Amino acid sequence: MWSPWRSNYIDSFKNAKEDDVCVFCGIEEQDISDDLNLIVHKGKFCFVMLNLYPYNNGHLMIIPYRHLSDYVELTDEELAEITKLNKYSILALRNIISPHGFNFGANIGKAAGAGIHTHLHFHLVPRWNGDTNFMPVLGEVKIISQDLLITKNKLVKEFKNFSL
Ligand SMILES: [Zn+2]
Repeated sequence: MWSPWRSNYIDSFKNAKEDDVCVFCGIEEQDISDDLNLIVHKGKFCFVMLNLYPYNNGHLMIIPYRHLSDYVELTDEELAEITKLNKYSILALRNIISPHGFNFGANIGKAAGAGIHTHLHFHLVPRWNGDTNFMPVLGEVKIISQDLLITKNKLVKEFKNFSL
């Protein structure tokens, strides 16, 4: 069964008390050009960022600015932008890394396997034929790698070209 977002990509945050710290809140205040974050695009209601613990190269997340856990709490405007940003994320990834396919979705609630279940986020994972055995190698401490920054900068450029 394919379940990248059940992986321990987010386990490094487990020591942070869920209610004290939200890893997604406040990220949008950071500058896209800052190498200390992986934001590739800021929309009106949502932003797009690379996953620090990617299932695959180019693993993106589309995240509403609002701190909410339940899908049905999203406004129609937020939902529309999520769908739109997903479309342009697919286009951007196709332009830079030519995936063969994509998985797109969210885990809604802890029982569904959400790593960060208090702040809803959508995963877009590029897939290639034969990548099913791919598993990320996770260390104790993950820093933003050069490879991730290269991918980030390419995606930032792609989103600029879309003039959203
Ligand atoms: Zn939050």
